[in-house]
Amino acid sequence: MKVLQERIRQEGLILSDTVLKVDSFLNHQVDTELALQIGQEFKRVFGHLPINKIITIEASGIQFAMAAAIALGVPFIYAKKKKAVTLSEAVYSAPVHSFTRQEEYLISISQKYLGSGDKVLIVDDFLATGAALIGLVDIVNEAGAELLGVGCVIEKSFQEGRSLLEKRGIPVYSLARIASMAPGEVHFIDNNPA
Ligand code: 5GP
Repeated sequence: MKVLQERIRQEGLILSDTVLKVDSFLNHQVDTELALQIGQEFKRVFGHLPINKIITIEASGIQFAMAAAIALGVPFIYAKKKKAVTLSEAVYSAPVHSFTRQEEYLISISQKYLGSGDKVLIVDDFLATGAALIGLVDIVNEAGAELLGVGCVIEKSFQEGRSLLEKRGIPVYSLARIASMAPGEVHFIDNNPA
């Protein structure tokens, strides 16, 4: 997605070889026009599939899952990062190791909202080590739902996330795939098999 690549080049802050900060338009302040375009792009890629639900993880996946859900006309669910008091009912849950925070946490989704009849698209902001998305994949499997694909806004292709998902036979589509990055220099991979 060219417009996204340009924004990453112009506004992305490369904090280290592996961490990219995009707080000015994606992760803290959100450019809502761009978020809606991202939703349309996910519709272009996944819209031919019989998806009836989108899932993501709080907090930074929410605006993109919502944009994609609006574009596809389906609801979205965000997995909660710890069991809240309001989640007193039965949940599906999976442990996740956070790449950015270097800590373990539990994600959960109420069993009320995900089940064996569901056909799911997972959407998230970043694909890095894949740990967060694999947690979601485990929840989809536990629920007996069908996973039709994974859509990510930014993929750091030099980390192992994509290959871990593909090993499980999951189609992955990322809107901007970063091959390598250094201050002032971001290289993208242009080919993007769905
Ligand atoms: P993963 O589990 O694939 O390693 O990373 C999952 C989450 O970590 C992403 O959803 C994102 O919130 C965060 N993350 C991973 N790498 C980056 C990065 O380079 N920059 C930012 N801003 N967040 C990241």
